[in-house]
Amino acid sequence: MKISTILFDADGTLWDFDASAKRSIETIFNRRGYQFTDEVFDRYEKINKGLWERYERGEMPRDRVLTERFDMLFAELGINAEGAAFEDEFRTELENCPIWMDGAQELLTELRPHFKIYIVTNGVSSTQHKRIALTGLDRCVDDIFISDEIGAQKPHPAFFDHVFAHIEPCPKEEILLVGDSLSADILGANRSGIRSCWFNPAHQPLTGEARPDHEIHTLRELNGLIHSLES
Ligand SMILES: [Mg+2]
Repeated sequence: MKISTILFDADGTLWDFDASAKRSIETIFNRRGYQFTDEVFDRYEKINKGLWERYERGEMPRDRVLTERFDMLFAELGINAEGAAFEDEFRTELENCPIWMDGAQELLTELRPHFKIYIVTNGVSSTQHKRIALTGLDRCVDDIFISDEIGAQKPHPAFFDHVFAHIEPCPKEEILLVGDSLSADILGANRSGIRSCWFNPAHQPLTGEARPDHEIHTLRELNGLIHSLES
């Protein structure tokens, strides 16, 4: 089976978003004199994940995810602070410290001569553009699609319809999507009729309705997977 086009998710796939978020929150906690520990970050991650899942299911607008996540964290920690103000500081820090996922740059360099490569990301437009500039991601791929600018997010077919209309035309069978989110990336690929590879570095169990065609645990496995599909 020929693969001509690869759609990569960005956060949690090519960028180590967790590492950036942790460093950013730690920086602000230190600046404000709050005690930061690994447990604090674990609590934040659980709250944040739950809110984004509600957003992806269409149960909550994006703005509320951003205003409520730190309100909920501070309520749990007994810190008297405004979540919305912290969110503004967090966004600024996040923009300034994108961190590549281990092996991501090498992978893109290897794949680029052989495939059309696009980024498909759910995210805040201004944040993503700053981080794209700092990492030079735009120079490593053919184009970048941000949900904020399209007006639809993964996994909704409207997002992917927009992408398909703007990439170099090819049969859907030649497209492979690589992403870490079952509920956004893999489900979106399922609904849009393209093949998917679940990047699952934490060896999470397969849950929900999404059905990945392939699964990898490190980015280095992707090159071998693609070769095996084509042979
Ligand atoms: Mg992701």
